[in-house]
Amino acid sequence: MPHLSDRVISITGLEDDGWEIFNLAREMKLNGKEIVELTIGEHDDTTHSLILEAMNQSARNGNTGYASVPGTSALRKEVANRVQRRTGVYTSASNVIITPGGQAGLFAAHVALANQGDTGLIIDPFYATYPTTLRSAGLNLRTVKTNPEENFIPSPEELDAKAKGAKTLLINSPNNPTGMIYDDHTLLAISKVAIKNDLWIISDEVYDTQIWEGKHISIRSFTDMENRTAVIGSMSKSHAMTGSRLGWIVAPEQVIEKLADLACNTNYGVAGFIQDAGLYALTQMPEIEAIVAEPFKRRRKIAQKIIREFPSVKICPSLGGMYLMLDIRESGLNGIEFSKALLNAKNIAVMPGESFGTSSAGHIRVAMTVSDDIFEYATRTICSFASNFVCSTN
Ligand code: PMP
Repeated sequence: MPHLSDRVISITGLEDDGWEIFNLAREMKLNGKEIVELTIGEHDDTTHSLILEAMNQSARNGNTGYASVPGTSALRKEVANRVQRRTGVYTSASNVIITPGGQAGLFAAHVALANQGDTGLIIDPFYATYPTTLRSAGLNLRTVKTNPEENFIPSPEELDAKAKGAKTLLINSPNNPTGMIYDDHTLLAISKVAIKNDLWIISDEVYDTQIWEGKHISIRSFTDMENRTAVIGSMSKSHAMTGSRLGWIVAPEQVIEKLADLACNTNYGVAGFIQDAGLYALTQMPEIEAIVAEPFKRRRKIAQKIIREFPSVKICPSLGGMYLMLDIRESGLNGIEFSKALLNAKNIAVMPGESFGTSSAGHIRVAMTVSDDIFEYATRTICSFASNFVCSTN
């Protein structure tokens, strides 16, 4: 067989891909074990039936051919309105391209904004696909470390030092895996670093409807940032539409034009009936975002109450999103050891903090994606499991 390209070979395999516990849990499930899976960000509810009805109607009305590649003008306009309403920044349909989910948006934005071999910055801990997305797009990766004592907020000095010679900086607020939301102060500092070092900011805002404390602010709304920011949005998390693959990029018009060229030569856009379903959800069901977010808000409260009873387990602030980051360092185990032991002893699967970089070592990420009663049972079990280790090691 002739050689594969260096680019695809180097996507994975340079470090542990972080999916070991997830794969182990799936294997145990296949072998008949009952596992509580608190690993990935998949809602326990499916897409709302009215959204599915709109999808069905659109397809049955004949909307099954090639759709407009940058997105239908109605959906682009609606996304633009939504962004303008939420951020106050003037946004038109020509600032928007519809993408097959946020993930495709992350990849396309990096391809469009950096050359092969350029350096892209990500902040550790990061969403699990970030390193591989940057490598897939041909970038070299540079990581900015953070620490739990500062709520995983990057320090401006560290950012500035790492920004020398870099081309892009990928940020994510509300953050997966930490649940942090970057406030005004943090975003202003990041924007100053971006301007000083002439960086593009790629701002992943796919959790912007899941805010439990504080408020979501888009970095695109800061002074002089509109022309150096690409915002990644998605209906996966906000509308429980993960399988529909419907997202967008909001960026300067010239960037969107080039992204449309790229889309013509990669995915050819998103199915028209999916776009119509998205448009229906955005225009006809404004209440759905709160309905989809509600279970996570509720379960976060359940967890906070339980965790307070266990002084050896600490919860990161968890201001938004569908996960909790728990500090289990007092157990004396790292996140991988803890997650493996928990899976084997209690049949509960969580993600080790180490799956998201080195800054969240000694933590676990718990997805709040099972029914309230199972979640309550799992949280209590995790906490007492961690506490037992503390007792036995002291
Ligand atoms: N960004 C973050 C931070 C995520 O957690 C996810 C999905 N888990 C995505 C982007 C991609 O989401 P999608 O492609 O489904 O829109």
